[in-house]
Amino acid sequence: MIIEYHRPKTIEETISLLSREDPCTVVLGGGLYLNEKVKTQIAVVDIQSLGLDTIETKGNKHILGAGVKLQQLIDFDQLPSALISSVKHQETYNRRQAATLAGTAITADGRSPIPAVLLALDAELEIVGKNKQSEMIHLGDFLPFRENKLEGNLVIKIIIPSNTKTAYHYAARSPADRPIIAAAVSQWPSGRTRVVLAGYGDQPVMVLDGPDAGGAEIAARDAYSEAGDQWASAEYRADAAAVLVRRSLNQIAENN
Ligand SMILES: Cc1cc2nc3c(=O)[nH]c(=O)nc-3n(C[C@H](O)[C@H](O)[C@H](O)COP(=O)(O)OP(=O)(O)OC[C@H]3O[C@@H](n4cnc5c(N)ncnc54)[C@H](O)[C@@H]3O)c2cc1C
Repeated sequence: MIIEYHRPKTIEETISLLSREDPCTVVLGGGLYLNEKVKTQIAVVDIQSLGLDTIETKGNKHILGAGVKLQQLIDFDQLPSALISSVKHQETYNRRQAATLAGTAITADGRSPIPAVLLALDAELEIVGKNKQSEMIHLGDFLPFRENKLEGNLVIKIIIPSNTKTAYHYAARSPADRPIIAAAVSQWPSGRTRVVLAGYGDQPVMVLDGPDAGGAEIAARDAYSEAGDQWASAEYRADAAAVLVRRSLNQIAENN
């Protein structure tokens, strides 16, 4: 339950509020997760007056404000089509008007399409903490430790490359359902290839980050060789992971 609401105009004020121990104070993005899932008493700090809702392209990077709404990613029209596909897959039109990019990345679970594509893009988070200094952290290093990394901290930007070819493919019980198995693959001009799987577990997993795509299908099959649960057997997931990775690599090759 939300017991206090703040809407600061500066990052300094935001960090001061987040540093309080009592009441427990957290960032409010779109509030979808906080409203549905958090049952304890919390104070919230709404970030909508901080100007964190911009999208810029500089050099070969897209710099996405933490408070960018998911629908803005679609409307910007210059982001990787795989990221846009994952946004349309994960959230409906109405929810896309509220959900923020940072809130969505932070609440990733194993079946979350958008964080899977962000991880394939090797997204970096810019975080400001109690000492008011900002630090960069890769999403892959952030997710396993997110509870500690978030304490008193504010994500201000998410940075992704603008020069990759990226593909996202999934299988689900219906097109709008969450994936039972998904593959997100990015390839840089150098040939560097990152492969991420989703559909199982606590968070999407990176299964390959190499100088080229060699071994990607085998790595995908191995990574999900024990990924069985009520939705699908491990055998199905391992087979389908290899197929979806191949499909993603073919799509990337065809776009050359
Ligand atoms: C009922 C429900 C159904 C869902 N269905 C799906 C689904 O089908 N598929 C799927 O993949 N996902 C699903 N999700 C996950 C959903 O996509 C995300 O929870 C949502 O996008 C969160 O975005 P938000 O901006 O509303 O986050 P909020 O609720 O505002 O915040 C989420 C968390 O992130 C923290 N936070 C937010 N912004 C920042 C910041 N800038 N800095 C630091 N911390 C921050 C908050 O403190 C909070 O802990 C579902 C969630 C719910 C509650």
